[in-house]
Formats: sequence, structure tokens, C-alpha cells
Amino acid sequence: MTETCDPLDLPQRILMGPGPSDVPPRVLAALAAPTVGHLDPAYLRIMDQTRDLLRRVFRTANEMTLAVSGTGSAGMEACVVNLIEPGDEMAVCVNGVFGTRMADVADRCGASVHKVEAEWGRVIEPDAVAAALKAHPRTKVVGIVHAETSTGAHQPLEEISRLVHDAGALLLVDAVTSLGGADVRVDDWRIDACYSGTQKCLSCPPGLAPVTLSPAAVAAIESRKSKVRSWYLDVSMLRQYWGQARVYHHTAPVNMTYALREALRIVLEEGLDPRIARHQANHARLRAGLESLGLRYIPARSLTTLNCVAAPEGVDEAAVRRRLLEEYGIEIGAGLGPFKGKAWRIGLMGHSSTVRNVDLLLAALRLILKR
Ligand SMILES: *Cc1c(COP(=O)(O)O)cnc(C)c1O
Repeated sequence: MTETCDPLDLPQRILMGPGPSDVPPRVLAALAAPTVGHLDPAYLRIMDQTRDLLRRVFRTANEMTLAVSGTGSAGMEACVVNLIEPGDEMAVCVNGVFGTRMADVADRCGASVHKVEAEWGRVIEPDAVAAALKAHPRTKVVGIVHAETSTGAHQPLEEISRLVHDAGALLLVDAVTSLGGADVRVDDWRIDACYSGTQKCLSCPPGLAPVTLSPAAVAAIESRKSKVRSWYLDVSMLRQYWGQARVYHHTAPVNMTYALREALRIVLEEGLDPRIARHQANHARLRAGLESLGLRYIPARSLTTLNCVAAPEGVDEAAVRRRLLEEYGIEIGAGLGPFKGKAWRIGLMGHSSTVRNVDLLLAALRLILKR
């Protein structure tokens, strides 16, 4: 599976790991369109269109919606560094790698961080958030991961959002592995700051981080007493470029914007609801197949976009992944943290979430596990 007609001599993979996912040819073609200046009227039109498309995919009317230059982690950092001033209190829900990362980012931004923890693989209970808000009434922001890619846990948000707003705090949500694959409703769920990445369920190469901020989040940024502690990610300057003023801040990754626009168009041509239903159906098909092979899901509430299953006792999980890659060209992910060496993470994100991929992976796994 390594022969190829690719000009860079890269293998054709089937990407079923924790991201990136397979990129549709239309998106790759968009990436290869002629580079124009980042202030060219033709490019500014594409930015505006991308912004509109992002609003529809986030299901928001937020004016402050943009694609931050950088991967999903840049989106995380942009949200935290703009909302937090040194000395502010932030509660961060931690039940896997990405909650841990958000707590680290908040700490680096000078926040006094209150961790709300749950065991890896479990979701954060609303009671735990309520207790943290009660113990720390000055909490300004509550950060939580909607789709914890390191464990496959799918975090419900509505009840937690109500608690956060009742306490007068802002809700920050990591939707990196849910946007474009699972239901994300920024306005209905009253999410104040939400970020994602291009290479998960949007099926675009890595490189941009969609971000949206509610009017309350923007007001919090406008009433900061100190400058944002990052020049590159300062939203008050970025908005001058994304808004009508078009003030140069940094050179936009022009071709990546073409690619993101195309990826978002594909998402909306399919329709958000049919797309979410496709992710559900393919997850159900994979789950039935994996369970019939005797494999067990680790999280009680699994994502449809990322399937985290325990590797069977006595099986060399790394060898199985290696054979999937070498013999079938299929990439799946390894376990992280407490699941290192003990689990597989199988992504069914965006363009990779197909019946064909599910059945191919199941057939390959069946053959490999038999030996
Ligand atoms: C992948 C991921 C990130 C980080 O995104 P990068 O593109 O790797 O920087 C953050 N949060 C979650 C939940 C992710 O799955």
C-alpha cells in the first residue's frame, strides 16, 4: 500500500486516527489555487465568505468569528489569552489530555486555575462544576472540552452552561473534535468562546483554528485592564483585519483560507444534520463490529467521531497499528496517558467517516487479531 503517483512520493493513507482526517480532493485543489495578496480584494471576499460559513457551522450569529492562524491549540491559546488577565480565576475541567493542556495554557496566562477533575474516560458532572463555582465565586471563565479526543468521552454541555451563566462566568468550549461531526450549538448552548481545528471533522489539512466569541466574551476582552499577553493572538488587533478596517496584522495563510472555505462548503452542502447523522450511523456500525470482535469501549458516553477501545489482553497494540499501516495503509491512534499501550483510538471524522472505511478496518482487524 505504499506505491503512489503522488509528486512528493507520499503514500495514500486512510486516516482513521485522532486527526488529521482524509482530505477531499476538492479541498486539496483549493489549496493549490494561485496565491494572491492577503489584502487583495479577491482574498478579502474569500475571508468574508469563510467567516459566514464558519458562523453557520458553529450555529452562531457572533460577529467575532474568525480563523486563527495556527492549529487547534492556537485556537485554545487565543481564547484563553484574550479572556484571562493575570490574577483572574479560571476553572478548567480536566478529564484527559486536552483539559490538562487547557489548564497549562491558563496557568501560563497568569490565571489562578481551579481544576474540576474526573477520571479519564468519564465526563465532568455538573455537580462538580457547581461545587467549584461555589468554592470560587470570582471565577471568570470555565473551560471544558466537548470532545475529549484522548479518551473518546462526549461531554454534555447544556446543564453546565446554565450553571456557569448563573454564576456570572463565561463558558469556553473546546470543539476541536466535534465541530462538523457532532452537534455543536454555540448560540443555543450559550457558549461564550469556542474553538476548533481544521484537520478533524472539517477534513481540511491542519493549519487554521476556527474561533467564535460571544458579545459577552468580546465585552470582557474590551474591558481588560492590561494588554493581551500575546501579540500574535490578540483578538482586538485581529478583528481590525477581519473587520471592515482591514488593518494589516500578520500575513494571513492565504491558501489555507481557500482550503477552509472549500471544506466548509462541503460541510454545508451535505448539511449539518445529515452530516451528524452520518457520523452517528458509521460510529454505530463500527461499534457493533468492534464489540463483535470482543473489543470494549473505554468511555461510557462515547463520541461518534473518536472511538477509544481497550486493546485485548496479551495483544501487542503497537504491532497491530503497525500492520494496519503497513499492510492496509490505515492509520489509527494509540492510547494516551493511563491508556498508553492499552487502547486504540479510531477516528471517524469528516471525510474519513464512511461505511467503506468502517468495513475495511473491521475486516483488517479481524484478520490481524486472528493471528
Ligand atoms: C487535536 C485537538 C486539539 C489540538 O489541536 P492541534 O491541531 O493538534 O493543535 C485540542 N483539543 C482537542 C480536543 C483535540 O482533539
